[in-house]
Amino acid sequence: MDLGLTGRWALVCASSKGLGRGCAEALAAEGVNLVLNARGAEALEATAAALRQAHPGLEVRCVAGDISQPGVQAAALAAAPQIDILVNNAGGPPPGDFRDWEREHWLAALEANMLTPIALIKAVVDGMAARGFGRVVNITSGAVKAPIDVLGLSNGARSGLTGFVAGLARQPRLAGANVTINNLLPGAFDTERLGKTMAASAERSGQALEQALEQVRQQRAQGIPARRFGTAAEFGAVCAMLCSAQAGYLTGQNILLDGGAYPGTF
Ligand code: NAP
Repeated sequence: MDLGLTGRWALVCASSKGLGRGCAEALAAEGVNLVLNARGAEALEATAAALRQAHPGLEVRCVAGDISQPGVQAAALAAAPQIDILVNNAGGPPPGDFRDWEREHWLAALEANMLTPIALIKAVVDGMAARGFGRVVNITSGAVKAPIDVLGLSNGARSGLTGFVAGLARQPRLAGANVTINNLLPGAFDTERLGKTMAASAERSGQALEQALEQVRQQRAQGIPARRFGTAAEFGAVCAMLCSAQAGYLTGQNILLDGGAYPGTF
């Protein structure tokens, strides 16, 4: 199906690797011009080069820097003639025990995973409404629906974003102007971040690292009804679908992509 996105412009935050890159690749395959962002300039340029090679007709621009910094947000927004699609993403907060977290830890999580997406949404949605097309996809986490104890900073900050978006997406001046805002909730996806989390569990096991890592991988995958981790390409494909011209009536939703891991009926 043609998703009707040819010639649109997307800002995909935190997109040199992992799920953000998966979204950028899927949008590029639909003919969307891109502004990519990540802190590490080298990996960012390598991703942009791969995308330009695969899609020579597209414009792919890069803005390196921490997306939670206002100056980086401004540069990313200014890099495109207009933003038709915004994919909000950033690294997740570290795991831990809430007894060890001080105010500054909470503020960092809120900055990256709640206030930054809200600032970017604020910068783009009224222009989208005036032009009669806009799609915002926030990459959050399955932890919003089923909290993970050690990821309290993520549970809290992302739930704050989710609550805010639920109200905003339903404003008639946005929903009535073909501007949709949805959240994509990843379960376990095979990215660098997941690898790091599993390596930490393997190290704690005290066994030989490679063997322990394989054991942790297998155990985690066996706990998922799909018996495997998701791929960034699968994640990106759903993101592109949410951004499609056809998805104009789909707004304010939380779409869980987890291979069936969440056990509830709703
Ligand atoms: P990843 O493989 O580690 O990739 C993260 C990407 O974001 C990289 O391109 C990284 O590049 C960039 N990035 C990180 N912090 C940034 C910042 N402050 N500003 C700009 N770019 C930044 O991670 P992922 O697995 O794709 O995860 C993406 C998001 O989904 C995270 O918030 C994660 O917590 C969440 N999530 C992932 C899973 C999973 O299973 N993978 C599950 C639930 C939730 P630089 O480091 O160079 O900046």
